[in-house]
Amino acid sequence: MSVIATKLIDWHKQHGRHDLPWQASRDPYAVWLSEIMLQQTQVTTVIPYYVRFMREFPTIHDLGHASLDAVLALWSGLGYYSRARNLHLAARQIIQEYHGQFPEHRELIQQLPGVGRSTAAAIAVFAFGKYEAILDGNVKRIFARYFGISGYPGESKTLKLLWLKAEASLPVNHLDGKIETYTQALMDLGATVCTRHNPLCQVCPLQLHCKAWLDKCVQQLPAAKPRKPLPQKETIFLLLMQQQKLLLGKRPAKGIWGELWCPPEIGLNIDSENYCQQHLGFQIKTQVKLAPIDHQFTHFKLRIYPWLLHVLPESVAPLAQYIWIKPSDALKQGIPAPVRKLLERNFLTDHS
Ligand code: SF4
Repeated sequence: MSVIATKLIDWHKQHGRHDLPWQASRDPYAVWLSEIMLQQTQVTTVIPYYVRFMREFPTIHDLGHASLDAVLALWSGLGYYSRARNLHLAARQIIQEYHGQFPEHRELIQQLPGVGRSTAAAIAVFAFGKYEAILDGNVKRIFARYFGISGYPGESKTLKLLWLKAEASLPVNHLDGKIETYTQALMDLGATVCTRHNPLCQVCPLQLHCKAWLDKCVQQLPAAKPRKPLPQKETIFLLLMQQQKLLLGKRPAKGIWGELWCPPEIGLNIDSENYCQQHLGFQIKTQVKLAPIDHQFTHFKLRIYPWLLHVLPESVAPLAQYIWIKPSDALKQGIPAPVRKLLERNFLTDHS
């Protein structure tokens, strides 16, 4: 068995995490849900969402037959909403193409929306005991350090090398639950010991053979992404209020925040009063500019200028894709993180 596998399996007995809610089950649906929620999100944040989600949608059929709105509402606050949309889409695909039976093989799991190779491998391991290597962000960091791989893991050459190392490090014997323990141990080591900042090398079971530790370059690995300044975009959100209620519209499925609820958005060069009159059919009574907020996407930064507008009482009827909603109730809907921030900052004390 590889040194890394032996050490990690031993270490996991005492130091690994054994009581996470999804570890009680080999149900592929539960495993899949936990793996998707854990992408870019910490365990402590995920647990209450996972528990609520499993209570509301205990099977793949419950999820597939639910409305996307209900799924997004339950996901609200967890971020990266494309994960929820893809879960919903994939549940429907599994019901249609596999008669509700979750596919067992990594190659098939990987074809589901929102599932990459590493996530597919983790599901195949934990749900079906398959012999597969994982390579999520934490595991890339461990291998880059342990093997002293200096390239940026996002580059294909480095990534290829990391996959080779991941495959070569698997325990030789994958029976007796070794592959599950090893995979969980890798995840746990990345989350609790070989962390991005201030890794706990003194207590790490891999220290003796870790190239980065031996060469004193732990902090330099893995190499950071070559920096390019992110483009900055700007937009205006119209916070239209009427009788203590806010106007929200459902965004189109394609594009940022697809199918989430947002205030109407206009470009900086658009006249807000004109826009409200012509596109929404509202007369504006008052208009106040609120403090802007910034949000960062992977590929750009967005500065949002929120304008608070009170509409005349008789302009009540919203268009089909819009709703009037109390700001406190809006927080229970599927809304993007900056809209949540805007509502909490501007409404939850005085206006809701
Ligand atoms: S010794 Fe340090 S850098 Fe190396 S694997 Fe362990 S925690 Fe990570």
